[in-house]
Amino acid sequence: MKTPVLIAGAGPVGLALALDLAWRGVPSLLVEPLTEVHPHPRAISIGVRTMEHFRRLGLDQKVIDAGVPRSRALDVVYVTRMLGREIFRFQIPSIDELARDAAALAARTPEIAASPYYKTWTAQSPLERMLRTEVARSPKIEARYGWRLDSFVENEQGVTATLIELASGRREEIAAQYLIGSDGANSAVRSGLGIRMSGRGTLGDAVGLYFKAPALGARLGVRPGVMYWVLAPGCGGVIYTIDGGAEWVFNRYFAPGEAASTEDPIALIRRALGEPLEIELVSAQKWLPRQLVADRYQSARCFLAGDACHLFVPTGGLGMNTGISDAVDLAWKIAARLEGWGGEKLLANYETERRPIGLFNTCEAADNYDKSGTIFAVPEALEQEGAAGETARGAVAALLPPKIKHFAPIGVHLGSAYENSPLIVDDGAPPVPFDPVRYTPSARPGQRAPHGWIAPGQSALDLFGRGFTLLRFGGAGSEALIAAAREAELPLNVEDVADYALAEIYERRLVLVRPDGHVAWRGDSAPAQARAIIDRVRGA
Ligand SMILES: Cc1cc2nc3c(=O)[nH]c(=O)nc-3n(C[C@H](O)[C@H](O)[C@H](O)COP(=O)(O)OP(=O)(O)OC[C@H]3O[C@@H](n4cnc5c(N)ncnc54)[C@H](O)[C@@H]3O)c2cc1C
Repeated sequence: MKTPVLIAGAGPVGLALALDLAWRGVPSLLVEPLTEVHPHPRAISIGVRTMEHFRRLGLDQKVIDAGVPRSRALDVVYVTRMLGREIFRFQIPSIDELARDAAALAARTPEIAASPYYKTWTAQSPLERMLRTEVARSPKIEARYGWRLDSFVENEQGVTATLIELASGRREEIAAQYLIGSDGANSAVRSGLGIRMSGRGTLGDAVGLYFKAPALGARLGVRPGVMYWVLAPGCGGVIYTIDGGAEWVFNRYFAPGEAASTEDPIALIRRALGEPLEIELVSAQKWLPRQLVADRYQSARCFLAGDACHLFVPTGGLGMNTGISDAVDLAWKIAARLEGWGGEKLLANYETERRPIGLFNTCEAADNYDKSGTIFAVPEALEQEGAAGETARGAVAALLPPKIKHFAPIGVHLGSAYENSPLIVDDGAPPVPFDPVRYTPSARPGQRAPHGWIAPGQSALDLFGRGFTLLRFGGAGSEALIAAAREAELPLNVEDVADYALAEIYERRLVLVRPDGHVAWRGDSAPAQARAIIDRVRGA
């Protein structure tokens, strides 16, 4: 059997890749050993950039609907125990509040205006179920659940892979032009390519307890949060809601050297809650907080994406989000190569663009983890009544405001850029300042092309997609660029934008945006070397 793209692994990254390729008209074969989505929820925080990608695929509202109710505030709360004393609260608006009061909220938190989304609370298992339903609907994707990639051989034309059906042991050979390893931490594609991972390694130990506590929700007051950091000694960890109702996960962290507890999980959960509520344990999953990045992301025909090439500590909620952006980078480049207008350097620069982001984001998450460690070393009086307790809780609360970078790292999500990529044309503008919690909108080449509402419900982001987009802010002289694109058969959509605020942010009269929504080139008039620019951005 033949397929243009063989995708090994249907976690969130493989599923998003298959759907993005399908949206671009590219068929794929998706292979996954699990016949059903793994029930343990894992990821919970869907970043703004990921939501923007899902918006392009028409799935943003389905992602929100798979999460907590839209009316649920997304507050993160620090407590002694969940039903104990509140120490500090990061107030984060619900989806409904954002829809109602975006302008007022943005006046207080300017980052809210940076994207159509701010924070989305949808667990990985319902997200994957929704994505599997979309995959099943797509005529472009053949999904084989219950199968795994066993081995592969690469040559100049492509890859020949052997798949095995787990239930029957049946083997099948597949010829593909490209093989993508989105097959997770123990990636068969990565080991087949002989690629090692480097970094700080394993930073501690952790266990996730997925439980149901039907009576808990009603005990959380008028504005329940979605995530509670429990600081009491002996049960330090994080409890977060999965469905906004009875379902929760307690991630118990153990510092290096601290023995992972052998305590009965239900007793541990009850201690963290602070009361002996009725608990049903659904599943327990041990996982390792790590900072590791693959030394290479690719060969000529095989590419790694997601956990196959970067392993995170979950502090910051960046792992899956970074992986989905890998998938987006791969999808448009593969489509361009298969359609013939993408040059040889396009996919060759997948690693150049994505690996620095894998390195940066895993280090950012590890930094959050290092800083979280100190917060669990609490004063003895933390739970006491009276002045000593008040002082202890006040001292802990004073340490917390900088931790907002765990929960709303919008600068990390939207500031990921490809400024040093050979596929980007530098315009000499000064670098954009980076701050994990602030986002400075900029159309400097390499940056994500900024959002702005251009009509009710229509974002500037909605203009970008299958081909390149040339934005004209009253700019003349775009003919040379358009002619060069036509000559190179590069799909180009030209959009005249009459929006003064957006024109100020984009800073130039002509801005060329890639199919992944990153700026490739900008200028006030068409460049003298228009064909050279077009060839550069299409990797020719
Ligand atoms: C407690 C916890 C909380 C987290 N919270 C967040 C968060 O809030 N936000 C966030 O962005 N990230 C978070 N993460 C990280 C996130 O879960 C991972 O980054 C994400 O699962 C990576 O997706 P993936 O598709 O790359 O890999 P996986 O989800 O691991 O999927 C890989 C798939 O490949 C399949 N596979 C394996 N071998 C083969 C083979 N030989 N052939 C074919 N298929 C194969 C596996 O069965 C699996 O389904 C969290 C992780 C943990 C542990």
